[in-house]
Amino acid sequence: MALTGMDRLAVAAPEPAPAVLRAASAPRASRVVRTGMVVALATLLLAGVATWQLHRNATAEVKRELQQIAVLLAEQTARAFQAVDLVAKAVVEEVERSGVADAQALRQAFETHEMQQAMARRAVNLPQLEAMGLVDADGAAVITTRVWPTPPISIADRTYFRAMIDSDGMRAFISEPVLNRVSGGSTVYLSRRIGAPDGALLGVVTAAIRIAYFSEVFEAAGFGEGTGATLAREDGRILKRYPVEPAGPEERITSPAWYDLRAAGGGAYRSLGVTDGRGPRFVHARAVAPFGLFVSASRLESAALAAWRAQAAGIAGAAALALLYIGYLVRALSRHFAALEESHLALARHAAALTLSEARLADQSQVLQTTLQHMNQGLLMVDAEGRIGVWNKRAAALLDLPESAFDDPAGFAGLRALQRERGEEQTLPPAQRAEMDAGWMPEHPHVYERRTAKGTVIEVRSMPLRAGGMVRTYTDITARAEAEGMLAIAASHDPLTGLANRSGFGQRLDLALAAVRRGGAGFALLCLDLDGFKAVNDTHGHAVGDILLERVAVRMREALRGNDLLARMGGDEFAILLPEADSAVAQQVAQRMLSMVRLPYLIEGHSVCVGVSIGIATCPLDGNTAEALLRNADAALYQAKRDGRNCFRQHVGDAVQPERERRAMEAALRLAVEEQDFQLAYQPICNTMTGQTVAFEALLRWQHGERGAVAPAEFIPLAEQTGLIIPLGRWALAAACAEAAAWPVPARIAVNLSPQQFCAGDLLASVEQVLGESGLDPRRLELEITEGMVLEHSEAVIGTMRALRGMGIRLVLDDFGTANANLSYLRGFPFDAVKIDRSFLRALNTDRQARALVEAMLAMARALGLEVVGEGVETPEQLAMLRHLRCDLIQGYLLGRPEDAAAARERLARRAAEAELEAVGAASRRVRRAARVMR
Ligand code: C2E
Ligand code: CA
Ligand code: CA
Repeated sequence: MALTGMDRLAVAAPEPAPAVLRAASAPRASRVVRTGMVVALATLLLAGVATWQLHRNATAEVKRELQQIAVLLAEQTARAFQAVDLVAKAVVEEVERSGVADAQALRQAFETHEMQQAMARRAVNLPQLEAMGLVDADGAAVITTRVWPTPPISIADRTYFRAMIDSDGMRAFISEPVLNRVSGGSTVYLSRRIGAPDGALLGVVTAAIRIAYFSEVFEAAGFGEGTGATLAREDGRILKRYPVEPAGPEERITSPAWYDLRAAGGGAYRSLGVTDGRGPRFVHARAVAPFGLFVSASRLESAALAAWRAQAAGIAGAAALALLYIGYLVRALSRHFAALEESHLALARHAAALTLSEARLADQSQVLQTTLQHMNQGLLMVDAEGRIGVWNKRAAALLDLPESAFDDPAGFAGLRALQRERGEEQTLPPAQRAEMDAGWMPEHPHVYERRTAKGTVIEVRSMPLRAGGMVRTYTDITARAEAEGMLAIAASHDPLTGLANRSGFGQRLDLALAAVRRGGAGFALLCLDLDGFKAVNDTHGHAVGDILLERVAVRMREALRGNDLLARMGGDEFAILLPEADSAVAQQVAQRMLSMVRLPYLIEGHSVCVGVSIGIATCPLDGNTAEALLRNADAALYQAKRDGRNCFRQHVGDAVQPERERRAMEAALRLAVEEQDFQLAYQPICNTMTGQTVAFEALLRWQHGERGAVAPAEFIPLAEQTGLIIPLGRWALAAACAEAAAWPVPARIAVNLSPQQFCAGDLLASVEQVLGESGLDPRRLELEITEGMVLEHSEAVIGTMRALRGMGIRLVLDDFGTANANLSYLRGFPFDAVKIDRSFLRALNTDRQARALVEAMLAMARALGLEVVGEGVETPEQLAMLRHLRCDLIQGYLLGRPEDAAAARERLARRAAEAELEAVGAASRRVRRAARVMR
């Protein structure tokens, strides 16, 4: 497996988050609050129940206590009254036993001091008994224990006396409290009836009972705080009340409950306690039988429930504390749970993030694995012990080692041993040879290159690891190494045109010079400088300027042989190195450059024209160093510039034409154009087979005042450069048409068009005007256009050509073959004929290649339906060859040099006469034939 150790990089698939981490199971703070409230309510309920229970207990307790007190008091009160009643009863029995029957007898029998003493003695043991007395049936006192002798007192008005009148004598009667007239204390009277033997009222025994005595009884009962007692009669009248005395003898019990309980002999009830104003209380009333009295014990609620109140307050306090504590707990717990919930959420988020990052990690790990498997680099990881942890197949492939070598138990040392065995230290740079010794590890990042036996260049990059060992990559940099070589080439090239730059040119020039020094062939050097480039740049901008430079470069390149070197030296300067070329070849090339460069360019909708000036130097004639040659070529270029630009000059042999002279020339040309001081020469163009003149080419001639005849090759570039070509060309066209219109024979007239005339734009209009003025049949006019111009073809150029052709004018492609255009390429252009350039014809008879070329041109032209004109026919051999090749038309010195208008007219007249003669001859031949037939 190529990726041993890769599993170490793998990451376990992400597991789902543990259940405890799930936010859904987290306790809710609200639940805590709810529980807290339930606990608080329960606490309150418990406290309430406890308080209520305690209240009940306290109430029951006080009731029980009051009952006991009431029982006790009732007993004691009863005992106090019974004791008095017993004494009273004893008196009653004594009187009744005595058998007295009337008041008189009573008084006689009992109104004695002994009787009074005896009665007093009976009373003395009863502290409650204040006094006793005996009254007769009329209420008059018989005896009183208070005083002796008995004063005349009557109690006939007293209730306790009157109650006895109707009494059955069975029970004692207890009076309402009475203020003692003597002691001033409050007293109640117990009275008993004494019946006469006949049953009539005999007398009444009365006993005054001190109410104050009951204070002692009540006090002796040991009442606690807030406890009280009341002694009342059956009718509610209060005899004694403790601790607040009744307001008077008339005061009665107010509680209705008390009255209700009388029949039952008493019971417990609650009193509002309005009478004594001490507030509500618990009461227990009890009958004091058989005296018609009721005693009641009471305790104020405030006192009775004081303990309970304290307990209740304690419970309330405890409950409040408990509630507070519960509140605190709830708050703390809710906070705690809220925090817990928050941390649960955070945990859940973390878990999610963890899952995500684990997934990412797994992805990354997979990406890493895939990368390792498919990366273009070899990779090797060695740990501190020299074990190979990670490696990929690419490493094995680049090192050209079997994959088993990486799984060698000896690790990296084993791998190196294997490499050493194979003698691979030879492929290492010398500094790295020692690396093969086992145990070597880099201490710093470290890079070197090695070329394998197979020729692959590998970059070996080592990175030491902090824990020891290293990561090493192997990169195939063969392509880069080659590219670096190419970069060196790029450094010698111009990025815009792709041509060699000055430095590249210098290198080739040095090579060429070295070859010459070794005895090789000489070479030519051309320095070229564009004319009018600055104007293009200024008018249309640098972008157009740049495109123009590219196009110029393309055209120049096309006009050269494969071996020739074209270079851009900077700006609009170019240079050409022509290996094994002499000055003739150089001039030829220069001429081609001149004619091609000046043809118009269509750039971004603009028709742009530019010229070129050329300086030529040859080696070894003009120098055998780069400096000398370049300097001389530059000097010649400078001369060409001074001579009016758009021309070439050669360093050797070319007459130096001073700048002043060029200026004079330009001025003269301008004047000549203004004065139309030119002539046209007419050179015949003939049918190859018959030799008959079918057309004339109009060629400009200028007779300079001082210099004599100036060749068109010299003044036409000057005219183009100065823009004078426009009026000059127009004049030539007009003059040629006017002349042709006057010819005796309707031969065609061919006029040359400068590329600039196409640029000018008003070509169609001026042609139309000239034809109109001269009256020449347009079908007799031919316009000659150079090949280079149509290469820069555009809809505009083709459009103009179509329009001209539409007028009936013939279009001829001039100088065909000089611009390397393929004839089939010209298929799209509306030409009627092509003119094969002179240079082809010159070599026609000697150079087989030239002949093959002309043959091919003719074949293609025929296939395209074009007429072919052979130009520059100077020798009969050339003529014979062209006839052999069935070229349609011919032009050249052999058939006629350019001649003046008169001579041309004469030639045409001659042609007409010959034709007439021919016609006459033919007629006479027909006459002779006819005569023979007749004979
Ligand atoms: P071109 O258009 O190729 O014209 C033919 C040139 O070849 C003429 O040179 C002619 O005299 C020359 N020639 C003809 N037959 C032979 C021959 O057998 N042997 C040799 N060696 N030469 C022959 P010329 O008149 O000196 O004109 C040179 C060039 O000047 C023309 O080349 C043409 O490009 C230009 N030119 C002349 N007249 C005009 C004109 O009116 N307008 C324009 N734009 N250019 C003109
Ligand atoms: Ca021509
Ligand atoms: Ca020509």
